[in-house]
Amino acid sequence: MDLIIGAGISGLSYAAATKNDYLIIEKDHEMGGYCRTIYSGDYVWDYSGHFFHFQRENIKNYVLSRLNDDDILKVFKFTQIYYKGKHVDFPFQMNIHQLDKEEFIDCLYDLFTTEENAEIHSFKSMLYAKFGKSIAEKFLIPYNEKLYATDLDKLDTDAMGRFFPYANKEQIVKNFRNAQNQSYNAFFLYPKRGVIKIVESVASHVDKDKISFNEWLVSVDMATKTAVTNKRTLHFDNLISTIPFPKLLDMCSIDYDRSIYSWNKVLVFNLGFDKKGPETKNNWIYFPDRDLVFYRVGFYDNIIGQDKMSLYVEIGFNHEESHVDVEQLLYRTLADLQKAGIVTDQQLVASHSVMMDPAYVHITTASETDKVQKKELLAKSSIYSIGRYGSWTYCSLEDNIYEAFCLAEAL
Ligand SMILES: Cc1cc2nc3c(=O)[nH]c(=O)nc-3n(C[C@H](O)[C@H](O)[C@H](O)COP(=O)(O)OP(=O)(O)OC[C@H]3O[C@@H](n4cnc5c(N)ncnc54)[C@H](O)[C@@H]3O)c2cc1C
Repeated sequence: MDLIIGAGISGLSYAAATKNDYLIIEKDHEMGGYCRTIYSGDYVWDYSGHFFHFQRENIKNYVLSRLNDDDILKVFKFTQIYYKGKHVDFPFQMNIHQLDKEEFIDCLYDLFTTEENAEIHSFKSMLYAKFGKSIAEKFLIPYNEKLYATDLDKLDTDAMGRFFPYANKEQIVKNFRNAQNQSYNAFFLYPKRGVIKIVESVASHVDKDKISFNEWLVSVDMATKTAVTNKRTLHFDNLISTIPFPKLLDMCSIDYDRSIYSWNKVLVFNLGFDKKGPETKNNWIYFPDRDLVFYRVGFYDNIIGQDKMSLYVEIGFNHEESHVDVEQLLYRTLADLQKAGIVTDQQLVASHSVMMDPAYVHITTASETDKVQKKELLAKSSIYSIGRYGSWTYCSLEDNIYEAFCLAEAL
């Protein structure tokens, strides 16, 4: 029997694809993991905005075939940066010509005089080497520091993988005349009734009698291939875990250097207002300004097409930050939304908050090396760790489905 830990998109995708007998245990009372949707009156909110740029046609078809065409929105991506009281198109590095003249000259000068052959040893040094001091310090560094809540010098050069919008000098200059602002995709897909619809589509291939809710993994004996949960002891042929990688190592009693693994957590406020706000076009806006508490604000009303403002607001913390006062942060958020001109006279009529912990893992050279070694060790006892947190990586839901399908085929 294959024992699957977690009924998020990764665990469900593995169950949907495997030909082996299986049991899923899920610590929560419902499936979906981070891909869950909250319905509050007219408002449809995910844990945080979840939008899709499928790269693999077969996975796109697999997921969408169980949904009606009318349920899926194809949205033209329009996103900007709020910079010193103005809006600049995203990505910043491609749109420096929209800045005031002095700032534009600084960015251009630094871009063309940057030491391209400088030694690149971290995410931060990569930003300086590729884009020069001004672009790095005006946007790329403050924004990513707010998001990751760590020193960017600690992160691997490729910490964001394909999600980082690289651009060379030629592309930047060409963009002054013809805007090509699409970072990794011009459109995204979004189910009108929220990301849970994608989960339900995958789960339609899963036997619901084989999901045990409110049951969680406590420890694993690698030698005897047994797992202890809060309810029983289970023997497994394969164990497929989607829980955060360091937690699995703890449960398997594997020794490791805890300082290697770090991450951020993201507090998300979903906020519903009584009417539209002045912001009419953006799908989401990036905020590098350290005086504003959030790093990104998204507009569900612009994505779904609603006549009342519906926001998700994201605030990053280091995982070590122990005390987060959610109520006080809601007041601060509302005040900062006013400062940024998003809230004027609209009244807040509904709200929801969730702490995503972990949210973005800190990808470092040490974590990448250790992960590979420990995964090899686990595989010797038929234990496989997959998913965004199981594989300790930066990825999309599509990547999770793909990884789970590949493992199901291999086993
Ligand atoms: C802020 C943010 C924005 C994102 N935006 C996008 C986006 O726009 N597009 C996109 O494609 N992806 C996005 N993602 C990524 C996406 O959310 C993840 O890739 C996906 O949800 C990971 O699914 P998973 O099944 O691997 O993990 P999870 O969703 O974390 O599922 C793990 C499951 O395991 C359960 N579990 C944990 N511990 C135990 C235990 N001991 N025993 C039993 N069960 C346990 C949990 O309850 C959970 O249900 C975003 C992520 C974040 C944080």
